[in-house]
Amino acid sequence: MTMNKVECSNCGSNAHIVHGCYEFPESGLSSVVLHGIEIVHCDDCGNDDPIIPNLSDLMRLLAVCVISKPERLVGEEIRFLRKYLRMTGEEFSRLLDIDKTHLSKLENDADPVGDQTDRLIRVMALITGDGLRAKLDEVVELFSKMRAARGRGRKKAPRPMQVQVDAPNLTYQYA
Ligand SMILES: [Zn+2]
Repeated sequence: MTMNKVECSNCGSNAHIVHGCYEFPESGLSSVVLHGIEIVHCDDCGNDDPIIPNLSDLMRLLAVCVISKPERLVGEEIRFLRKYLRMTGEEFSRLLDIDKTHLSKLENDADPVGDQTDRLIRVMALITGDGLRAKLDEVVELFSKMRAARGRGRKKAPRPMQVQVDAPNLTYQYA
């Protein structure tokens, strides 16, 4: 198989590889855009499949993005972190010492996350998440600045983080 003869995973037609950016809802986060990656594009059905060579590094970076988010976490971000920790709702709610139903409501934005629970989720993810402990000092430093940011936004419902990721260099910027 050569670089310019690849099969579309959706319809099986010949697809080709393009460079560009890709929205990455498969991550579980609704507003993540990956830049500088290769995408298998199919002209026949319009399907795009991103080629992500460093998926585990990328998922770790997204976990850092979520944990460092200045505003309060929303449901999809809590679910993302739980999955990053490879925990069931039952296990995660036990770890956080909250009711399983409450956790489910948090993940579905049916209940807003409280300040302490928000912080606890981030800390638990940092301590137990794959490769995140190295970020502990850096993120704890950020934590002291978060209260002010959250206080200002308290009237508004938090929104999912919007983040632009430079995929080859594994850097990010909130939009
Ligand atoms: Zn196709």
